[in-house]
Amino acid sequence: MTQETLSFQAEVKQLLQLMIHSLYSNKEIFLRELISNASDAADKLRFEAIADAALYENDADLRIRIAYDATARTITIEDNGIGMSREEAIANLGTIARSGTKEFFAKLSGDAQKDAALIGQFGVGFYSGFIIADQITVESRRAGLPASEGVRWHSAGDGEFSVEAIERPARGTSITLHLREGEDDFLSAWRLKSIIRKYSDHIALPILMVKEEWDQEKQETVRLDEDETINQASALWARAKSEIDESQYKTFYQHLAHDQQEPLIWTHNRVEGRNEYIQLLYVPSQAPFDLWDRNQRGGLKLYVKRVFVMEDAEQLLPAYLRFIRGVVDTNDLPLNVSREILQESRDVKAIRDGVTKRSLSMLEELAEKEAEKYAAFWQQFGQVLKEGMGEDQANRERIAALLRFASTTQDTAAQTVTLADYVARMKEGQTKIYYVTADSWQAARNSPHLEVFRNKGVEVLLLTDRVDEWMLSFLNEFEGKPLSSVARGDLDLGALSDAEKAEQAKASETLQPVIEKMKEVLQDKVKDVRTTFRLTDSPACLIVDENEMSGYLQRILKSAGQ
Ligand code: ADP
Ligand code: MG
Repeated sequence: MTQETLSFQAEVKQLLQLMIHSLYSNKEIFLRELISNASDAADKLRFEAIADAALYENDADLRIRIAYDATARTITIEDNGIGMSREEAIANLGTIARSGTKEFFAKLSGDAQKDAALIGQFGVGFYSGFIIADQITVESRRAGLPASEGVRWHSAGDGEFSVEAIERPARGTSITLHLREGEDDFLSAWRLKSIIRKYSDHIALPILMVKEEWDQEKQETVRLDEDETINQASALWARAKSEIDESQYKTFYQHLAHDQQEPLIWTHNRVEGRNEYIQLLYVPSQAPFDLWDRNQRGGLKLYVKRVFVMEDAEQLLPAYLRFIRGVVDTNDLPLNVSREILQESRDVKAIRDGVTKRSLSMLEELAEKEAEKYAAFWQQFGQVLKEGMGEDQANRERIAALLRFASTTQDTAAQTVTLADYVARMKEGQTKIYYVTADSWQAARNSPHLEVFRNKGVEVLLLTDRVDEWMLSFLNEFEGKPLSSVARGDLDLGALSDAEKAEQAKASETLQPVIEKMKEVLQDKVKDVRTTFRLTDSPACLIVDENEMSGYLQRILKSAGQ
């Protein structure tokens, strides 16, 4: 079994087509993606070597090397990271292993710009090499395997790839791109260096290239017997804030989150005291396609003293903040920490509380200072944040203040009204915050329950998101004002005048025979029939008792088969 030829997974074929066309205008990102993979491979080796130092094979200076060959028209990206076995090469470079592949393809629109953003989020970096290469050769050996178990993977990006066994003393991976016709401008040290500095400066290990120099005598550029480090090669989050500019923060985010777009905001600080850690947290500007995937883990990478320890460390963030991306680097945990240990550690609990507070204050600041950006945030992630009302009792008040609602004072479905806005507008004598729930904004604003509120000029919040009913069970009051559904029990819209009351009593009496008749006709279809003064235009409406489920919730449960 030396050489075998295999087919790419159908999705990969589709993806290759799409990528070559939609990312062509931004083709230099191939280098960012391949360097990012090399850096991940170094992280993985460091992590596995915590348990088994022999994996370093006496070569613990991890680095990435970039080289080009103008005659052969190739670029090579080489690392001494974890490497791949034959099986791993087949699995990792022939399929898309990530969960959510189906959703991803379902979301593709054919609009190059939008799809390019999706591709970024999906993190299908390796295949981006085919944007500029018509042939890619990967040679690799996994750390710990003998030299005879090297593997060569080769593909022209046309649906098939081959793998064969090779002898490879060097641990790690080397990826050689054979350039397509017309891509020769990448065959220059100057060009490659500038791309590396632009996208990969934050990579924490050195990216090396052979030094070149102009030779006066020969009148040509010659290669020296010496390397030069192109990037800063220090972990970005560990640098002082004053030494990091905005664009560095942004490119770091794009690397971290596999997102082509810029982040909406970020926060970076060093926590000192009982627990010491650095946190760099970002809010993306767009929700990832798998935001609603229950299995989706948290977006924080955990480092211990600059050493990468874990991807998606969900213990560091509550689920309702799963849209946050970033890095936590602590001195308080052992390097060989496992997910199980994380679950029980008190230090982790303290970090999680700290990260949560920091995330909330980042959002508070955004809401206060940049309302427009906050609105964009709310539109993307507001529904997830609402889950926090149930999940995070300790921060419930802060989360409540971050909520935004549609309301009868606004002529749009956009959710912009805060509970504080509402309270400030409450009528004299009004004691409650009123809301109505429905499946759509149209249905909510046309609810007959609203008539009396409109007449009295009392604002009503219009709640139409799926999570709202659930959320409301945790949102009983705000600033001491209880929340109350307009569809529940007796309405107490402030004291009515005596004259009004007398008139109502008389009307009730006159209507008594009608009520009796209706009870007879409806019998056990309803619990009770009452005269009401809450309607002004509609003749009748259905209400629920104080302690019963609302009509909307009943319908949701029914549709869920309960
Ligand atoms: P992602 O990086 O998001 O997982 P990629 O398409 O960039 O997706 O890479 C696919 C997979 O191929 C990686 O997850 C990794 O397992 C493997 N891989 C790619 N490049 C390397 C490398 N230089 N060393 C080891 N494994 C690699
Ligand atoms: Mg990658």
